[in-house]
Amino acid sequence: MSFENLKLIEPILKALQSEGYTTPTPIQAKAIPLVLDRKDLLGCAQTGTGKTAAFAIPIIQLLTEDKHLPAGKRLIRSLILTPTRELAIQIGESFESYGRNTNLRYKVIFGGVSQHSQVESLRAGIDILVATPGRLLDLMNQKIISLQHIQFFVLDEADRMLDMGFVHDVKKVISRLPQRRQSLFFSATMPPAIVELANTILHNPSKVEV
Ligand code: AMP
Repeated sequence: MSFENLKLIEPILKALQSEGYTTPTPIQAKAIPLVLDRKDLLGCAQTGTGKTAAFAIPIIQLLTEDKHLPAGKRLIRSLILTPTRELAIQIGESFESYGRNTNLRYKVIFGGVSQHSQVESLRAGIDILVATPGRLLDLMNQKIISLQHIQFFVLDEADRMLDMGFVHDVKKVISRLPQRRQSLFFSATMPPAIVELANTILHNPSKVEV
């Protein structure tokens, strides 16, 4: 199995080459075709399995191929919700790396720092937002961020999100997402509370376990 077999576009294949990736990890081999096929996904995978690329690569591809957006216009079309600042930064770096040959723009926002510089770059327009729940809700409440154009929603590390007490924040964010969207849900463990949350987010999901 190679990345070429996954029907990825040239700008992504080139980026993966410069990154030194030769072979998709098991979660990438399973998840990428499903996401490209517009399926909702329930992924049971830990950090270290390559799960970030498993969602970032197909989202970059689908956004690049999205023909609905007038040329030159940017709308937040993809939201990745993750529990910690460190994870948010890592995910941002993945989008930077795999999307380097596209003209997509992304931004990472998290709490604990001034919102000023985050807000400035949001105003310039982005396609992909990586966020922790608290800061995202803050900026939504201030009407700085709208989720009305989201096509792709990723909930990353759902079990940690619950452990850290973010369940209400996460549910609030979800309630503001468009009904018509593709959702990808990742968790290292699947206790009943997580399955229940997944059921409220996903429609007919494909399950991927590694
Ligand atoms: P993650 O599980 O998303 O945190 O990724 C774990 C690490 O594996 C990251 O440092 C990635 O850069 C790296 N990685 C992800 N996919 C691949 C791949 N197909 N080949 C080599 N390294 C990879």
